[in-house]
Amino acid sequence: MFDVIVIGGGPAGISAAVYLKRFKLDVLVLMKDYGSLGKTDHIENYYGFPEPMTGTQVVDNGVRQARRLGIDVKREEVLNIDNADGFVVKTTQGEYLAKTVLLATGSSRPNLQIPGFQDFIGKGISYCAICDGFLYRKKAIGLLGEGEFMAEELEVLKNFSPNITVFTHGKPLIAHVEGANVVTSPVRRLEGDELLRRVLTDEGTFSVDVLFVAVGTPSATDFALRMGAFIENNVISVDDKFMTNIPGLFAAGDCIGGLSQIAKAVSDGAHAALHINKFLRSKPS
Ligand SMILES: Cc1cc2nc3c(=O)[nH]c(=O)nc-3n(C[C@H](O)[C@H](O)[C@H](O)COP(=O)(O)OP(=O)(O)OC[C@H]3O[C@@H](n4cnc5c(N)ncnc54)[C@H](O)[C@@H]3O)c2cc1C
Repeated sequence: MFDVIVIGGGPAGISAAVYLKRFKLDVLVLMKDYGSLGKTDHIENYYGFPEPMTGTQVVDNGVRQARRLGIDVKREEVLNIDNADGFVVKTTQGEYLAKTVLLATGSSRPNLQIPGFQDFIGKGISYCAICDGFLYRKKAIGLLGEGEFMAEELEVLKNFSPNITVFTHGKPLIAHVEGANVVTSPVRRLEGDELLRRVLTDEGTFSVDVLFVAVGTPSATDFALRMGAFIENNVISVDDKFMTNIPGLFAAGDCIGGLSQIAKAVSDGAHAALHINKFLRSKPS
């Protein structure tokens, strides 16, 4: 069992991992891609950069730095976290156990540019099958997504209804889907009255009682929702020790809001590491 699993290999996650390793803790970093920094090729406002760097260079340097210090950094997408006896982190490749988890997965879920989408959040649009699935027993369930995250949610939803339609919203279906209809054309509009009622696509109009959203990969807020961690304004709520309301579950960087900058993410990561170390040392072994 790891002392800490850090989910995210950006400035917050790697900074935390470097400190955690120095505390002689057994740490694993799981990351899927370049995060926010993959979207920029010009960073010049971070301390110690005499010349601008691309975002991917910054991330690659961070990962190299961590590995040089002996930190295990794996490129794996995290799909789910369970907290039973410790934390079980499920990825596309396997499962890992840890005493604590640090969420450093960057900014939260994208706002989908589908007309009507904003109108039905909380009124037929849900982000969590395990939280809300039972409300839709034997109902017409829509599920938006295309990959392993969607497939995970589908397995949960199958317990509640045989009537499920997966909408990939124009993306190719990546995951294997059984026991659900699949519509691959783009979703053009969501319609309803006070509640969501219909999903309109080029393949036709589909009546739904709910649309679960599991696009791409799960974000920190998706993990938090499933575990019952508090979220406010789409960011994870943490206390002054960077811990969520779930003991042992910490969060840092863009996923907890505030200034979206490398400097702040690095600072969060370092502070979270200090508090994780104290948390672990305070526990009877
Ligand atoms: C276009 C653009 C330009 C920017 N320019 C600047 C700038 O000039 N200066 C500056 O200071 N800041 C800049 N920023 C902001 C900066 O990129 C972020 O504030 C910073 O990267 C946040 O760090 P983070 O570690 O919290 O998250 P991120 O850097 O986003 O890292 C998130 C990590 O989580 C991982 N992850 C997410 N989900 C999963 C999952 N399910 N499984 C496994 N891993 C997962 C990702 O792979 C990634 O490794 C810019 C951002 C953008 C979008």
